[in-house]
Amino acid sequence: MSQSLVSERVYNFSAGPAVLPEEVLERIRDEMMCLPGAGSSILEISHRSKPFDAILEGADQRLRQLLSISDDYSVLFLQGGSRLQFSMIPMNISTAERPGDYLVTGSWSQKAAAEAARLSGGRVIFDGKPDNFCRVPESSEFENNSDRSFLYYAANETIQGVQFQDLPDGNDLVSDLSSEFLSRPFDVDRHAAIYACAQKNAGPAGLTVVIIRKSLLEQVPDNLPAYLNFREHDSNGSRFNTPPTFAIYVTDLVLQWILDKFGSLESMQAHNESKAALLYDVIDEFPEFYIGHSRVESRSRMNVTFRFADEAIGDQFKSEAAEHQMQSLGGHRSVGGIRASIYNAMPVAGVQTLADFMRDFAKKHAS
Ligand code: PMP
Repeated sequence: MSQSLVSERVYNFSAGPAVLPEEVLERIRDEMMCLPGAGSSILEISHRSKPFDAILEGADQRLRQLLSISDDYSVLFLQGGSRLQFSMIPMNISTAERPGDYLVTGSWSQKAAAEAARLSGGRVIFDGKPDNFCRVPESSEFENNSDRSFLYYAANETIQGVQFQDLPDGNDLVSDLSSEFLSRPFDVDRHAAIYACAQKNAGPAGLTVVIIRKSLLEQVPDNLPAYLNFREHDSNGSRFNTPPTFAIYVTDLVLQWILDKFGSLESMQAHNESKAALLYDVIDEFPEFYIGHSRVESRSRMNVTFRFADEAIGDQFKSEAAEHQMQSLGGHRSVGGIRASIYNAMPVAGVQTLADFMRDFAKKHAS
């Protein structure tokens, strides 16, 4: 890439596809003409070739290392986005007699619950809509039904910016981890299944990682379409069909980046918490000017959401931020306001630039 293009890069607060580590982009650039030892680029080699075997195995091992995933779990590299998991999860691991129970804390878990209701009758046991999705529930606020097949929750709601600080009770959890994947340590063992699309914290669009308890694979109904059956993907080592080879390669580079630069998810978490604190401190300093969406105890470390009493100020905020080299700060079209997505790869300097800008902006405009 020419230097002039590098210097055109701005701080990108997009919710996903999102910022990637520059070290990873540089490595992709360096290896684009020829993957070392492969004789061709990653875009041109077979998904059954030795160099790709090494990439897939590397990604699997590094994920297992970072998240302490035991041999009781299978790691699958799939396509279809997290949206496909809204259907695959209930199709594979619940039945009409044993439905999944859903905690609806924002737009994504709401969509997942609606999809499950269409299939095997998922039940909503907590609905945060009356509170405008500004918090996650305590375990005492919902029933632990003994006939459930799993308890579903979205660990981080990307649109509203609310995040579970602790896991809900239960050892049969299913988590949509899409927008906080690899941002902090995570207790995989309490989960029946976990899934995350890669395009926020782990890589480019096109790959969805599913981590599923192996014992559940035995119970998957035989009559599912083969592509929608986790057992098929597992027994074919994520190569039932051609997997998203480039997205897996980039995700493996991101995993290597986390290990090289941070060493563990504990230190990744400390880094993310200090970044989020920079923004929440400004919101708390000007509480009448910046109206935070989430209640303090449910605040997301990944998607910081707020609005202004006067909507027109929001447009001015975004256009002035763009003049200061910050982009994609608009809230999701369904909620408006501002959303700053500060995933793993967003450098502290980017968040500090935004925090400084917010402070100056509030001083100028708060009446
Ligand atoms: N769940 C969450 C928490 C998300 O943030 C998103 C995407 N923004 C999805 C599910 C849907 O992901 P995909 O577009 O990969 O289907």
